[in-house]
Amino acid sequence: MHFQREKPTFKGFYAILPNFLAIFAHKTTLFSDFVIPKYSIIMTELSQRQEDERFMHQAYLEARAALDSDEVPVGAVVVCRGKIIARGHNLTELLVDVTAHAEMQVITAAATFMGGKYLSDCTLYVTVEPCVMCAGAIGWAQLSRLVFGAEDPKRGFRKFAPQALHPRTTVTSGVLAEECTALMQDFFQMKRRK
Ligand SMILES: [Zn+2]
Repeated sequence: MHFQREKPTFKGFYAILPNFLAIFAHKTTLFSDFVIPKYSIIMTELSQRQEDERFMHQAYLEARAALDSDEVPVGAVVVCRGKIIARGHNLTELLVDVTAHAEMQVITAAATFMGGKYLSDCTLYVTVEPCVMCAGAIGWAQLSRLVFGAEDPKRGFRKFAPQALHPRTTVTSGVLAEECTALMQDFFQMKRRK
């Protein structure tokens, strides 16, 4: 039996870079008190981005499921303390309900799971920038963080209601933006051809 070693790739290198930095920052005595926090911040930012991409991928899979059901492909997950507690996608066609956006589905499911209407320890990942209605719901639920993929310059909340979220909610945009945008473009191109 023989094993073939995988060729090292740049992608692989960047994936393990935060781990190297962590070991280096902890083990070495060369760093002064001023330098170590700087590397810790870089490390935290890198691992946060990786985690965001991991959860956004799950939201993306939900968006794909929406596409398979001929719904506008928007998917979302709610994460609490590193675990997905709710997942869902746009159901406006199935439920014949214009309010059945992905965000509304997961906010309701997450609140049921948590047994409380406020989701202040949770992060909502959604493949497309929320609309005004969903931003309002995210504000009411007091989510601590909103992460979205594709921007929506026409219907997104930032154009019409940039203050709709709770003041403590932080926003990260552009996570897996290319994939999320491509899914929307494919869907609307397909609809125009029909
Ligand atoms: Zn919406």
